[in-house]
Amino acid sequence: MAAAQETVLQIDLNAMAHNYRFIRSLLKPETKLLAVVKAFGYGSDAAEVAKFLEELGADYLAVAYTNEGVALRNAGIETPILVLHPQPINFKEIIDRCLEPSLYSPRILRAFAKVAKDQNQKNYPVHIKFNTGLNRLGFWENDVDFIVEVLKPAPELKVKSIFSHLAASEDENEREFTLGQISNFKKIASEIKSKLGYEMMMHQLNSSGVLNYPEAQFDMVRCGISLYGYGNDPKFNKELKPVASLRSVISQIHMIEPNETVGYNRAYVSKGYEKTATIPIGHADGISRNFGNEKGFVIINNQKASIIGNVCMDMIMVNISGIDCKEGDEVIIFDKDHTAEDAANLIGTISYELLTMVSQRVKRTFLR
Ligand SMILES: *Cc1c(COP(=O)(O)O)cnc(C)c1O
Repeated sequence: MAAAQETVLQIDLNAMAHNYRFIRSLLKPETKLLAVVKAFGYGSDAAEVAKFLEELGADYLAVAYTNEGVALRNAGIETPILVLHPQPINFKEIIDRCLEPSLYSPRILRAFAKVAKDQNQKNYPVHIKFNTGLNRLGFWENDVDFIVEVLKPAPELKVKSIFSHLAASEDENEREFTLGQISNFKKIASEIKSKLGYEMMMHQLNSSGVLNYPEAQFDMVRCGISLYGYGNDPKFNKELKPVASLRSVISQIHMIEPNETVGYNRAYVSKGYEKTATIPIGHADGISRNFGNEKGFVIINNQKASIIGNVCMDMIMVNISGIDCKEGDEVIIFDKDHTAEDAANLIGTISYELLTMVSQRVKRTFLR
């Protein structure tokens, strides 16, 4: 692989194929796989990744917001797309672009039913979201009668699936709570199926759910982070391959004297004769200011170089004293060996946030 000559986020589609197959291997043959590609495909590139997942055979895609689904349709994606968190202002466009809404509250269900009727729809596919303990979005169990009352006389809508989301699927200490969410969901499902008088798909598991509660796969699972190579657990991380690598380059090297300062607010003070490198990546690229002042580091020629002083908008400075390197050499922010999860831990966050923080101005390249 050629060394980076500017800041690039490399997306390894072969790694994604590996992760996809690993997840599939945990599923019953009839279980459908919904690939979550919200937030630009967890910071990678939603359209490229969605196209690739479509080729791999993903049954469904999901995004959070309507505009993310529209972008995928504009890119030619034909797989069904579930929009997890739409607003009434989006409903006409959802129908125009064949997107499938999650309906998560009485207000949202009524509003969508009205738009579907005004647009002369018949059996428009919708997904009913139930809250089983995350207390974020969703109908409550005691809303079932209301839902049935709205849907029974509404031939414009057809419930394609009912779903719910686990609050702590990665946390073994919350096993009892999670099992409660699963049994609550089963109860709601049998109630709504019998009251509506037809079958629909059921799904409740995200990535960690698939890994920790395979018995609750129902008809479909919704995987995000695991497709991008992270399993929220060292034992699953071993089986998965991180897809995104963030690399950059040394722009300039400075030799500085004792007691000189580096960067804005003169936040770093040199302790002796030191060597620093300036790298073209900053907080506007997704390197949080929390990595500044030696909380974070980069890898240069297999050695750690700490980030010194404050992270600037478009660059960081790192201490390369004792590291054999020159201007133009490659710099690794995270990759397969120095993972986004490890880097995230340094500033008290998680891989999800670090990956999705990589801003849109960072060039993406694809490996396959
Ligand atoms: C983001 C999201 C997922 C994917 O979760 P991962 O932990 O990334 O697998 C699944 N379901 C819902 C409702 C989500 O919002």
